[in-house]
Amino acid sequence: MTELLRRYPVQLNSYCKALSGRSSAVAKLYLPDLRELENPGLEADGLAELEQSPVPNLIRRYRDRAVLLTTSECFVRCRFCFRKRLWADGAARFSLSDENLDQVCEWLDRNREVDDILLSGGDPLVLNDDRVVHLATRIRAAGNVRTVRICSRAPAVEPRRITEQLTERLSVIDGLWFVTHFNHPDELTPESEAALKRLVSHGIPVLNQSVLLKGVNDDAETLRRLFKGLSALRVKPHYLFHIDPVEGVSHFATGVEKGLAILEDFRYTLSSLATPAFAIDLPRGAGKVVLVPDCAGKNGYRSSVTGEYVDHPLARTGGGQRR
Ligand SMILES: *Cc1c(COP(=O)(O)O)cnc(C)c1O
Repeated sequence: MTELLRRYPVQLNSYCKALSGRSSAVAKLYLPDLRELENPGLEADGLAELEQSPVPNLIRRYRDRAVLLTTSECFVRCRFCFRKRLWADGAARFSLSDENLDQVCEWLDRNREVDDILLSGGDPLVLNDDRVVHLATRIRAAGNVRTVRICSRAPAVEPRRITEQLTERLSVIDGLWFVTHFNHPDELTPESEAALKRLVSHGIPVLNQSVLLKGVNDDAETLRRLFKGLSALRVKPHYLFHIDPVEGVSHFATGVEKGLAILEDFRYTLSSLATPAFAIDLPRGAGKVVLVPDCAGKNGYRSSVTGEYVDHPLARTGGGQRR
């Protein structure tokens, strides 16, 4: 256990500590597990983020969008974190410097096909209001950037961080989206719901990303409750991710079949508003792949009402084979 805590220290705030006391599922997100030291063939940077970095702290994998690491710090450390490399073994803490920000903006001026930037980390909202607003405003004004996504767990883990004042300042930044991260319906508390409502009521669109975690949320009923709860708050469940191929998280792996079975259940039981895309991020920076239950057969398409194959008279218009 000493080795585990040295490698991946526990960091829990009072809000998440209290929540962990009330919910054993939430506790698994933050409490150490010896299996984190088992790493069958996995790398710390299994997604090759460092190789795909044209400027320090900018990760560019896709043609039109990129991720900016604004800080290494978070409110809490999630045991399933896919960037454990940023905080393993006492790694150096950082937050984006002004010089680094200048470099990123210059790079954006030269790479005008990139028009969508994700501010991530770490959690950008550990930075103070002035810094968050400055980063988002400068990035939005750089190059050809049209959308900025603030990717933060604050609504789920430190809901009081989403103040009226911060929300107002973010709401006037053009093209700004908020991407949050809830994994379990027990995280929907009066406080976290109020934080989400503040964002939405100021006109900021909010998306949610979840990670499918073995023993935490890997059943359709739990996730249905979460996704219905979020969509009722006007937060769109965007992605459900399979665990990433990085060191220190493999005991949370469910396998892809589990995610597909849950999506298959959702075909019959959950509105499209509340249903996220299920995706895996491939090793070596090969990118995200959305996986869907296979509904096309040689006798047509599998009904989302009865499960029977039903043909569609115009589906093969255009001369293609039935697929
Ligand atoms: C996930 C990700 C994005 C955003 O991808 P979307 O599918 O548009 O949400 C961009 N860059 C990197 C490196 C990513 O991992």
